[in-house]
Amino acid sequence: MSKIYPVDPTFAANAHLRKADYEKLYAESVKDPEGFWGRIGERLEWTKKPSRIRDVSFDPRDLHIRWYDDGELNVSANCLDRHLATRGDKTAIIFEGDDPSESRRISYRELHAEVCKFANTLKHLGVGKGDRVAIYMPMIPEAAVAMLACARIGAIHSVVFGGFSPDSLAGRIADSTAKVVVTADEGLRGGKKIPLKANVDAALQRPGTNSVETVIVVRRTGSAVAMQSPRDRYYHALMEGQSADCPAEPMEAEHPLFILYTSGSTGKPKGVLHTSGGYLVYASFTHELVFDLREDDVYWCTADVGWVTGHSYVVYGPLANGATTLMFDGVPNYPDFGRFWQVVDKHKVSLFYTAPTAIRALMREGEAPVKKWSRASLRLLGSVGEPINPEAWEWYYRVVGDERCPIVDTWWQTETGGILITPLAGAIDTKPGSATLPFFGVQPAVVDATGTVLEGPAEGNLLITDSWPGQMRTVYGDHERFIETYFKAYPGNYFTGDGVRRDEDGYYWITGRVDDVINVSGHRIGTAEVESALVAHPKVAEAAVVGCPHEIKGQGIYAFVTLVAGEQGSEELRKELVAWVRKEIGPIATPDYLQWAPGLPKTRSGKIMRRILRKIGENQPDQLGDISTLADPTVVKNLVDERLIR
Ligand code: ATP
Ligand code: MG
Repeated sequence: MSKIYPVDPTFAANAHLRKADYEKLYAESVKDPEGFWGRIGERLEWTKKPSRIRDVSFDPRDLHIRWYDDGELNVSANCLDRHLATRGDKTAIIFEGDDPSESRRISYRELHAEVCKFANTLKHLGVGKGDRVAIYMPMIPEAAVAMLACARIGAIHSVVFGGFSPDSLAGRIADSTAKVVVTADEGLRGGKKIPLKANVDAALQRPGTNSVETVIVVRRTGSAVAMQSPRDRYYHALMEGQSADCPAEPMEAEHPLFILYTSGSTGKPKGVLHTSGGYLVYASFTHELVFDLREDDVYWCTADVGWVTGHSYVVYGPLANGATTLMFDGVPNYPDFGRFWQVVDKHKVSLFYTAPTAIRALMREGEAPVKKWSRASLRLLGSVGEPINPEAWEWYYRVVGDERCPIVDTWWQTETGGILITPLAGAIDTKPGSATLPFFGVQPAVVDATGTVLEGPAEGNLLITDSWPGQMRTVYGDHERFIETYFKAYPGNYFTGDGVRRDEDGYYWITGRVDDVINVSGHRIGTAEVESALVAHPKVAEAAVVGCPHEIKGQGIYAFVTLVAGEQGSEELRKELVAWVRKEIGPIATPDYLQWAPGLPKTRSGKIMRRILRKIGENQPDQLGDISTLADPTVVKNLVDERLIR
């Protein structure tokens, strides 16, 4: 039995929604999606109100997903202009730099003016509706300005995480045939400079990138960088003399807003395409309810704008809601491991949203760096990106939140545009490690490998049986791949690629990607479950589990284990950990192989790339596939050299 944390009555007393509200609204949302989403769509300002709410078919032979189809709106006007009358002087963005002495506040009025000027700049450079603009930036307000300026004129942005290499950047520029690249001279992370402009120069040497006409360079560090005339232009110079008057152009609801490449945990990144109306309805609605947003909240999501979380929950959701959103250009361990909490105190952050990888890294450093700061302003904590193991959940709750802040473990994907499975802090009791229940309008189903829908408590693959407004519309330039990847395996349904367990209370537990679910003697074992058990051991800092060939069981369990600082791997400890997993989960989950891992291969968004570990476990180290999105490719060599199956 897993532990239950009931809704805190004090929190619920002031929350947007309580338990009965959730049940009533959820029932309505799935019974009458037209009526429900029609009403919710009114939260935005439309220049032409939609009369057709949804037009969807998940049939692979006639696949189409359209929301608010005949409506028109401008996304940037919804994030800026409509707040000016009531929130003009409210802080839209708090910028906190890498150096703790650097921060600034930008009001809605100021942000609006800056976006208008930059939109005029883009127009002046010949960028128009439908053109693609690549954004390769640090976490500075100009990144949000660039995104919103694109939205204002109907250009499609493609944000590429500033930590990516020239090759990864080049691939994304080529795939989207971008006309303009917006970048900075250099980034600054953890006191180290990142040569963004030089990376752009290198990327533009690669084949397929000659669509780029202009590179716009924001001065971040002020270091001298090579500027190639007439291609390269400084942002500040271009902005000079631009008018702050740039009427927002109405766009069709289904006009593309952005392309974003997935993080590549499972294979070659896909250019996920999101459109305007449905996306903004969904991002803003989930942002308001999942974080129980209030007018005076200071909201901080630590994700980079290079990931979908940075799109929906740093920029679009919060700004559409008129919230104050914090953009952090630093890292959790610089100048020290207390940085997050120092920033929380400095700006009185009330809502905080981060990833399990960050929580586990901080947990390893103990409580002292957290306890040094008051964190009194915090009232809700969120998690996203990977399954959060109960051990880390409990630590987040107890140490960071002082047992006072509810935790929302939000499951979603780049493809979904917004959160699909999540607790609502005033309405849904939580269980550490479970993303709990579906958000409004979201209809999950659990199926076995043959496609049979399983009822009640069950374990299998996670499908979503009907559309929601934030759903991706296509893979940019490759609609067949879209249909193939998401709609062919279980026709009539959206296939998430994730494995899931639904418990006796109807709660969902993401068990990992389907490829990572291991079939041991016919039993489905989620990698997340075995990893949680390992991490619960006091000497284990992190663990990754994959399947490996096994003569008798079909598949065996292969675990990679990183120990906490100061611990050494020994035969004795190996036995202890194997016994520990047997005790925690049961003999069926006994690891067959346990390898010590000084480091684990992770994507730049911090996710463990199990597909690489799987190849190592299968003794196929020459078939690691695309590793261009790895944060640190050097960790792979050690794991290959030390592999236990040869
Ligand atoms: P790619 O699709 O290119 O392999 P990716 O799936 O890592 O990359 P994202 O869209 O950033 O790219 O991540 C979505 C995935 O992250 C989900 O499918 C799920 O596996 C995992 N995930 C996200 N949030 C949670 C969560 N709260 N609990 C469990 N898993 C989560
Ligand atoms: Mg994915």
